[in-house]
Amino acid sequence: MDLDKLYQKTILEYAAMKEHNHEIDNSTAVERGHNPSCGDDLTLIIKLKDDKVLDAAYIGKGCAISTASTNMMIEAIKGQSVAKTKLILKAFFDMMANKELSDEQYDLLGDAEILGFAANMPARIKCVTLSWHSLKVIFQDMKE
Ligand code: ZN
Repeated sequence: MDLDKLYQKTILEYAAMKEHNHEIDNSTAVERGHNPSCGDDLTLIIKLKDDKVLDAAYIGKGCAISTASTNMMIEAIKGQSVAKTKLILKAFFDMMANKELSDEQYDLLGDAEILGFAANMPARIKCVTLSWHSLKVIFQDMKE
């Protein structure tokens, strides 16, 4: 299996994942991400407790890439501290800016590392970054 096929398979597996597609009771932050050029409309829901991402989920619909990216992001941040979530965010946007990442940054991203393929694909970058922008909006003003 070549690399492109492997990426495609991973994207499709994450896109088909249903376990993070639900509401959360008593959520602490909700941020809608809308990408009219593709039709992606995904609302990120976060529940913070004691400086940790206790739960994270999303509602709405998007294409395979935006949905897969959202699921990868949720897998990466669930259970993490606010400080670590910010590091994950930075690693992701560094990757999208074609910056060189450290091994530690790749570890933080987990499977979301493969989303780097879209950094040089203008038609896809909005799909890939949609929910990460929502996460950034939620966390950027937060104290650690
Ligand atoms: Zn899309």
